[in-house]
Amino acid sequence: MSFFKTLDVNDNNDKKADELEAAENVKCLIIGSGPAGYTAAIYAARANLNPVVIQGMEAGGQLTTTTEVENFPGYPEGVTGPVMMEDLKAQAERFGTDVRWGEVTSVDFSQRPFKVIVDNKKPFIAETVIIATGATAKYLGLESEEKFKGAGVSACATCDGFFYKGQKVAVVGGGDTAAEEATYLAGLAEKVYLIIRKPYMRASKAMIKRVENTPNIEILYEHNTKEITGTNVVTGATLIKRKDKPDEEEVKIEIDGFFVAIGHKPNSDLFKDYIETDAVGYIKTVPGTSKTNVPGVFAAGDIQDSIYRQAVTAAGSGCMATLDVERFLAEQE
Ligand code: NDP
Repeated sequence: MSFFKTLDVNDNNDKKADELEAAENVKCLIIGSGPAGYTAAIYAARANLNPVVIQGMEAGGQLTTTTEVENFPGYPEGVTGPVMMEDLKAQAERFGTDVRWGEVTSVDFSQRPFKVIVDNKKPFIAETVIIATGATAKYLGLESEEKFKGAGVSACATCDGFFYKGQKVAVVGGGDTAAEEATYLAGLAEKVYLIIRKPYMRASKAMIKRVENTPNIEILYEHNTKEITGTNVVTGATLIKRKDKPDEEEVKIEIDGFFVAIGHKPNSDLFKDYIETDAVGYIKTVPGTSKTNVPGVFAAGDIQDSIYRQAVTAAGSGCMATLDVERFLAEQE
């Protein structure tokens, strides 16, 4: 009988113990395959922790949806997101990381070793877990937005703003992210439209002031995006001003880039029964470390970072998580 079958598996999300495959014991299980997950894996593999990475639904993470990455150190000519993620994966595998397809469907962190089930059928019994499941940028949900992703539509100004030097762009959203992205883009682009659905901005007063004082930002209050237009790349957008009001009006703008900045959703739902998060769902870590409230469970990358959200900061925190795992395991011995 496997270790797993000796445990009482009552979780509704789990298959019954009889239907589960044989459990595998792992020293360090890494959930997520973005820069945080793979960097954690590189360090863990080199430290003989024999890590297993569960790739998740979006193998390679958010970077696989970007085109050129020019701000990751070590690539002087730039690199595409998918190639960079393949490189990180290859580097992790070179030292023996076991990378698996599949998605974690349930966890039990109530006792160590922890139980993690993949695709409702494959149990892992893990001495330590690094959660690196990232965050997902929210999009408006327009068909045209989907069509132009990577061809003018982006959810990251720091990543893609450079490509719009001297051009016209739009940013959607009225929070701090949108305000920050609009001011960042204003330093590169000729003109920035900031599209806000309400008659006011939700961003902090200081950020609103910065936006208002930037001459090449035009704020379009009470505007909703109807469609992003273009043939192969974005050339414009159709907006609705004062939607559903008697004086509703269609407005067309000419733009080369369309930045969506309406928030991110951290992928932490699966862990919420055990792991403390903030109100938005970002995992809380002990400041300056990757430690969560559960000893032996660590968090790295965007899942615990609502501020920086860069590939390089995620990679750095992946390294921190593995160093924390090593120390934790040494303390247990
Ligand atoms: P927020 O949730 O604060 O703001 C999202 C914005 O997007 C809101 O203005 C919202 O409009 C708008 N929005 C949402 N859905 C749609 C839609 N379908 N169509 C049009 N507009 C939409 O997210 P942020 O990412 O801006 O910020 C998240 C958190 O991170 C906040 O707490 C923020 O303060 C913080 N942050 C701090 C920074 C800093 O301190 N430097 C930088 C960036 C973020 P509405 O207002 O109408 O709901």
